[in-house]
Amino acid sequence: MARSAAKVSEAQPVWRTQIVACNLCGSTNSVELYPSTLDTELPLGELCACTSSAYGLCEAIVQCQNCGLVFQNPQPVPEDLHAAYEQVVDSLYDEEREGRIHTFGRSLKELELFAPKGRLLDIGSHLGFFVEVALKNGWRAEGIEPSAWASGTARNRGIPIRQGTIENFHCDVPYDAVTLWDVVEHLTDPAGTLDTICHLLKPGGLLALSTMDVEAPIARLMGRSWPWYMQMHLFYFSRQSLRLLVERAGFEVLEIRRHKRIVRFTYLVSRLERRLGRWYPMLNRLVDALGIGPRLVTVDLGDIVTLYARKPELRALASNGAHP
Ligand SMILES: [Zn+2]
Repeated sequence: MARSAAKVSEAQPVWRTQIVACNLCGSTNSVELYPSTLDTELPLGELCACTSSAYGLCEAIVQCQNCGLVFQNPQPVPEDLHAAYEQVVDSLYDEEREGRIHTFGRSLKELELFAPKGRLLDIGSHLGFFVEVALKNGWRAEGIEPSAWASGTARNRGIPIRQGTIENFHCDVPYDAVTLWDVVEHLTDPAGTLDTICHLLKPGGLLALSTMDVEAPIARLMGRSWPWYMQMHLFYFSRQSLRLLVERAGFEVLEIRRHKRIVRFTYLVSRLERRLGRWYPMLNRLVDALGIGPRLVTVDLGDIVTLYARKPELRALASNGAHP
C-alpha cells in the first residue's frame, strides 16, 4: 500500500453486510461463480477509494440464475457503505489529474455527439474533474459526491460539487444530461438510482455511464484473476445486463462502446503493485531510470464500456404510459 494515499480521516465505521436479491429481477436464485477472497484486513477507506489497489479482494461473486446478472453477495448495508464513502480521502486521485482530464475531455467529446450543450449533472464526481472539463466546454455543469474531502476540495477550487448522494438530491429544473463515470458498479441499488436519474432528466435528455464489462474476452480469460473483482465493486454488468438495467428504468439505449482511458505510465505500473509483489520496486526504479513515468498512455483492454441512452420524448412517454 506504499503508493496509495487513500485513508479514512476519522474512526472507521462498522461495515455490516447482508445477503441481497438480484437487483435486476428480484430473484434470490443465484450460483456462486467465485468464493470470497477476503482473507486480509484492509482499512475501509482503502477499499472504497477510487485509486484502491485492493484488486481481487471481495466477498463471493454470484450470478443470478434468472437474468444472468453478476454481483457480489453479501453486500455492505447501504448506510454503512455511505458512511465509508463519506470518509474517503484519496489524494493519489489528484496526482493523476492530467490523465483524468484528458480521459474526461475525450468522454465529453463523445457525449456531445449525442446531446447539445445544456445543464449537466455528474454523479459521483469525486474531485470534480469531469465537471471542470464540461464547464470549460460551455456546459452548465455541476456534480454530487459523497466524500466530504473530495467535494470540499472541489468547491475550494471553484467547481460546483455538492456533498451527498442521488437519494437525497433535489433539483427544480430537469437536466439535459446526467453522467456516471465508473459509478454504477459501486451503487447498492443501481436499478433504483437509474429510475431516479430518469426523473431528473428532461424528456429527450441523455444518460452517459461507464462501467466494467464482465463478459469482455479478457475478463473471461482471466476468470477470478480479473482485477476488477474488488470489494467496492458490487455489480459486474455485461453489455446485455447493462442494457436491461437501463431499459427497465425507461431509457432507450443509443450505443454501448469500448471506453479508452489515458493514464500516466507511473500510475499504470502502480496498479500492478499487488500482483508484482517483490518485483514491483524493481520495475518502479526502472521506470524512474528511463524517465518514462510522466508519459501519458492510452489504455483499452476492452473490459470497460461507455453506454449512451436517451430518456424518451414526451410523445413516446405518453404512448408508453411511462412517467414524464
Ligand atoms: Zn436476476
